[in-house]
Amino acid sequence: MNPLGAHALIWVAGWEEPDARRAISGAARAGFDLIEIPLLDPASVDARMTAAVLEEHDIGATCSLGLDFRTDVSSDDPATVARGEQLLHEAVTVAHDLGSTYLGGILYSAMGKYTRPPTRTGWDNAVGVLSEVASHADRYGITMGLEPVNRYESNLINTPQRAVDLIEQTGADNLVVHLDSYHLHIEAADLGAAVAGCRDRIGYVHIGENHRGYLGSGQVDFPALFRALAAIDYGGPIVFESFSSAVVSEAFVGALAIWRDQWQDSDDLAAHAHRFIIDQLTAADRSRR
Ligand code: MN
Repeated sequence: MNPLGAHALIWVAGWEEPDARRAISGAARAGFDLIEIPLLDPASVDARMTAAVLEEHDIGATCSLGLDFRTDVSSDDPATVARGEQLLHEAVTVAHDLGSTYLGGILYSAMGKYTRPPTRTGWDNAVGVLSEVASHADRYGITMGLEPVNRYESNLINTPQRAVDLIEQTGADNLVVHLDSYHLHIEAADLGAAVAGCRDRIGYVHIGENHRGYLGSGQVDFPALFRALAAIDYGGPIVFESFSSAVVSEAFVGALAIWRDQWQDSDDLAAHAHRFIIDQLTAADRSRR
């Protein structure tokens, strides 16, 4: 059975202790094994407090982030790339200190809409930084996931194959592909083929609807996705991601275009998602026999 998780933004946008308590207790109550904690600003996350609250509720954590245009490691500007490398190093340290063995997301470029294609220099800069940071992360026992996202949130990695290309260029063993059904729904020709195409590299999976609201109420072909994951015996984390204007985060609202109120009740949404994922896993498993 895969470890199941939920993103903290289902409950809260900040990470002061009351926020951490609300999100972690909410994820635990909904039945999840782990919570994904955003590290957009790693220095603002109190790792010791987080570790203590996680222990209290007996669940684990993973970490994620998207860089911004000031810290874009795929930039042509060396100072911008250096700021991004610094932020990724800090995020690895905080992830480790709060007890996570995973850091994923848009670690390779800014999270936002670009107005031109990436440059060769920018690609090489991203490869250089990720090789460096992956080796630092490896010393902390941390796996890093590159999440292919849709064309409006990055220009560098929009498909699983591009993530594989970047990983192969770094030669790092602790870099994996981080799939997301929401992004694949926009960019992939076929969910099953997308999974099969990078089968040995998949280390983390985000589950989200095409409108990022309640699972099963949109257009994503979840049965096909779960069958494809079952076919490759994927045993890694499956983490529910959903965003609504009900939980407002300055950092995410513009970058992810969260303009609509997809839901109000975080706990109902999370409990529904947990049941939905279990049902999909069960059905996919049954269809193999
Ligand atoms: Mn995602």
